Amino acid sequence: MENGTPIRILYMEDDPGLVRLFEKRMAKKGYLISIAPNGREGLRMFSEEGPFDMLLVDYQMPELNGLQVLEELMTNEPRPAVIMLTGAGNEEIAVESMKKGAYDYIQKDIDGRYFRLLPIVIEESVKRYRMEAEKRRMQQELKKYAQELERSNKELQQFAYVVSHDLKEPLHTIQGFAKYIEETYGEDLDEQGNEFLGYIIEGTQRMERLIEGLLEYSRVKFKGIKLKDIDSGALVDNVVKDLKATIDKRCAKVTYEALPTIRGNERQLNRLFQNLIDNAIKYCRDRKPQVHIRAEKQENAWQFSVQDNGIGIDPRYGEKIFAIFQRLHSKEFTGDGLGLAICKKIVENHRGEIWVKSRYGEGATFYFTIPDRVKHIS
Ligand code: ADP
Repeated sequence: MENGTPIRILYMEDDPGLVRLFEKRMAKKGYLISIAPNGREGLRMFSEEGPFDMLLVDYQMPELNGLQVLEELMTNEPRPAVIMLTGAGNEEIAVESMKKGAYDYIQKDIDGRYFRLLPIVIEESVKRYRMEAEKRRMQQELKKYAQELERSNKELQQFAYVVSHDLKEPLHTIQGFAKYIEETYGEDLDEQGNEFLGYIIEGTQRMERLIEGLLEYSRVKFKGIKLKDIDSGALVDNVVKDLKATIDKRCAKVTYEALPTIRGNERQLNRLFQNLIDNAIKYCRDRKPQVHIRAEKQENAWQFSVQDNGIGIDPRYGEKIFAIFQRLHSKEFTGDGLGLAICKKIVENHRGEIWVKSRYGEGATFYFTIPDRVKHIS
């Protein structure tokens, strides 16, 4: 065989003359051949002396015939590669063998010409068998990786939850005492003392917001979320209503075209649109923010876009902004760098993708896809 691993064959044949002929004709091929003189012995050798790359089974054997042996062999997982050797003119047996799962069959002729054909059939079948084995191995490996990934995701989620939950307690102690100092000793402190105390209080408030954000991030569940048909137009209507105060304050204009019904989780999609529209309004410096939402049908998904006329993003940071706590304009705009990380998690939960197209100073368009039929998220 080309890849150098010798082919191991189990040959079930009760005619010693044919066995000798076979061994002689195949001698140059380098096959490793084991001979079973009948079907029962063949089955024993298969289970005890394997693995074999290929089983050659003679149909006409005493006790168990080739088809009976084949039936037994096919109860194994994975199924072995079997070539049935039938008598000349035995088409029915050949067809039956293929139906029962044989890889191939060869009709024996009296003068042994089929020996010329045999190595070709053997090698083709072994190639197929080894490819299938490799495919199975890769599928198993993939499954293992997926399980491992799921486990570590879960662990990470739990870790984020526990850490953020536990951090709240000492933080509240610091906050409480800082407030107490402010109220009780504030008048005794000089200007600098009060300034520093102000920093402490501000710092704890920021930390509280970060912890809340982290908790929210860790709560965006991967598993077991409820999916239903959602009218994304109505959903965006609601988000815009919720953001009314921000929209009015910035004299922003939010417009959208007819939006489709999609399959998803209402709470999560609500959060997704809210974060994107909120950012589109926030990251706009000296103009009135204009936000436009659109949906475009693609082959297997709806592609949404949220376009703004704001400050834009340097394309170099187009991926970075979706990571947790990553901010590009930390001084000028308030925020915690969690909004887009949450968006990414939500979109990926729905088996979609999210990305941004923008140039600094020229507005940004955030795109995300929601596949047509997201199966239950598991
Ligand atoms: P936050 O807004 O709290 O900082 P996000 O995760 O929502 O956190 O956004 C991360 C960063 O991406 C922001 O700090 C900002 O620099 C940039 N960004 C997000 N949305 C926009 C936008 N529409 N236009 C320009 N920059 C944006």
